[in-house]
Amino acid sequence: MFKKYDLIVVGGGHAGCEAAAAAGKLGSSVLLITMNMATIAQMSCNPAMGGVAKGQIVREIDAMGGGSGIVTDKSTIQFRMLNRSKGPAMWSPRAQVDRMRFAEEWRLMLEKNMNVDFWQDTVNALIVKNEKICGVATSLGIEVEAKAVVLTNGTFLNGLIHIGEKKFGGGRTAEKAAHGITEQLVGLGFESGRMKTGTPPRVDGRSLDYTKMEEQWGDESRGEFSYTNIKKNQEQRCCWITYTNTNVHETLKEGFEKSPMFSGRIKGLGPRYCPSIEDKINRFAERDRHQIFVEPEGWNTVEIYVNGFSTSLPEDVQYKALKQIAGFENVKMFRPGYAIEYDYFPPTQLKLTLETKIISNLFFAGQINGTTGYEEAACQGFIAGINAHQNIVAKEALIMKRSESYIGVLIDDLVTKGTEEPYRMFTSRAEHRLLLRQDNADIRLTPIGYQLGLIDAERMKTVDDKVQNTAAIVNFVKSNSIKPEEVNTILEEAGTSSISQNVKMATIIGRPQMDFYRLKEASPVLKNFLAEFDKETIEQAEIKIKYESYFEKELEIVNKMKKMEDREINPAFNYNDIISLSKEAREKLIKIKPKTLGQASRISGVSPSDVSVLMVHISR
Ligand code: FAD
Repeated sequence: MFKKYDLIVVGGGHAGCEAAAAAGKLGSSVLLITMNMATIAQMSCNPAMGGVAKGQIVREIDAMGGGSGIVTDKSTIQFRMLNRSKGPAMWSPRAQVDRMRFAEEWRLMLEKNMNVDFWQDTVNALIVKNEKICGVATSLGIEVEAKAVVLTNGTFLNGLIHIGEKKFGGGRTAEKAAHGITEQLVGLGFESGRMKTGTPPRVDGRSLDYTKMEEQWGDESRGEFSYTNIKKNQEQRCCWITYTNTNVHETLKEGFEKSPMFSGRIKGLGPRYCPSIEDKINRFAERDRHQIFVEPEGWNTVEIYVNGFSTSLPEDVQYKALKQIAGFENVKMFRPGYAIEYDYFPPTQLKLTLETKIISNLFFAGQINGTTGYEEAACQGFIAGINAHQNIVAKEALIMKRSESYIGVLIDDLVTKGTEEPYRMFTSRAEHRLLLRQDNADIRLTPIGYQLGLIDAERMKTVDDKVQNTAAIVNFVKSNSIKPEEVNTILEEAGTSSISQNVKMATIIGRPQMDFYRLKEASPVLKNFLAEFDKETIEQAEIKIKYESYFEKELEIVNKMKKMEDREINPAFNYNDIISLSKEAREKLIKIKPKTLGQASRISGVSPSDVSVLMVHISR
């Protein structure tokens, strides 16, 4: 019934969609096997993409030719650039999306890819021969052969849902859990663990009184995630803010004795930075209110996502507590919040390509690797799909560097350090974050997508033009001056000191209070010159001028570290031969098998003196 495929992707979530799309686009024949075709790209929790550090990841995926940015732009109902008041390294796009349209757009995109076939079924075993993946077996008793497999099972492996004292198997609410894969992989020598996550109740928007809440609108001019010029809707929907209060907290406390979290029924560790409401009132007992974001689930639905109210308390306690929130007095609940425990595989068992170390051509991506979040999952799927293809066609693997992308930081963190709690991305995880901005993801990464064959020549040219035009603008303002009589009024209006003699335009742009928009009002020559450039290029030039010295310093650090990052370690290197390594370092190095000296230096337990010892031996 089935031909032998190049690649089978198990799971049609965020990781699975990116993996299938990337490998298919590169020319591999792909079979996407997912439990339910109707839930492809389902957003299990918040219908939103991006946010701090996560928005940068979506821009990076898009810059290399992935799908998440385009799908997000096509389904956005509200867009905000977070942290605009801070430096550009912190600017982070976030979009509230239409949950159903998001899923539909992903499916449409995959359906347009003629290399991707679909099969609705549950994979319950892997076919492995001589430590090599050969295909999968499904619950319908079908075996399909493939040269490579990407597992993206999300929260479905032995998923166990908790609502108060009730617990039942499921991968998400109203969806079955997946059994068999964990047990088989453990039998093959893999280590597995347990994690948990949770989601808030969804309510009926018709039952809420919005006059008691604060309106929260998106940016006046809608931004976007994708560097491609897709048509975007300028219309946006409003969200609202309300707060819990002490009555809500007291009601929730009544349910604590039935809480699966506090009673110890949930064993897995949850996302620290996304705590449940019961966790918040327990941990921050001094606070008498917590913020609740009231977010529509789409354009054409009354369903509301109660952001900030994730809970696994009994459904009647959830309902009683919700009714005491301002604006929620007559609330009707659509679905209760719940918690879910699931299996994951500590990611130190992977190579930097996301291929497993134990079984060749088997890749893991997404929540199965201990991460949380759509963006974190999507970028892993994208890289796993690319590397599965590269393996199949015997081409060089794609290993993203920490200094070039958040994606590189994420994968290196996972593979090198592992994670014991759900891993989410933060700007603070990226030591070179000044260079990894959302505004320059195309400049950093589109050449990589182009080299791989995921980006066409026309799109590459747009980026080359952006680089050249940015340089032309920077050059123009560095070589042209402005007179005091032209600019002083504008400087005073902007709240910055006036000048007494001609100064270079770049010096004026370098002031925090000034920008190209203001300066061109003072200089018709500049206005004329800028007329031929687009908004993004002018913004890029402005960022370059304002922060040039910081970027240069950061680049110096990257170049200094490059020596270590480029120093490869032979995979067959015998660490047991080096007696002067500490015992802990030796054990960790044998387990992680770092690819470079740089990666070795980031393993916890490998000290600077261990690195020096290693350096000497590698040189020999
Ligand atoms: P998923 O999106 O879970 O997709 C897995 C896919 O694989 C599904 O389509 C499933 O049907 C399919 N599948 C699984 N097993 C099999 C099999 N054996 N055979 C065939 N198909 C299979 N993230 C946050 O950032 N913040 C949150 O607050 C948050 N809360 C969450 C709350 C809940 C209740 C859940 C379930 C998830 C939450 N997440 C949250 C996590 C977020 O949903 C995931 O990180 C993200 O969806 C992971 O993407 P993925 O592709 O790895 O897996």
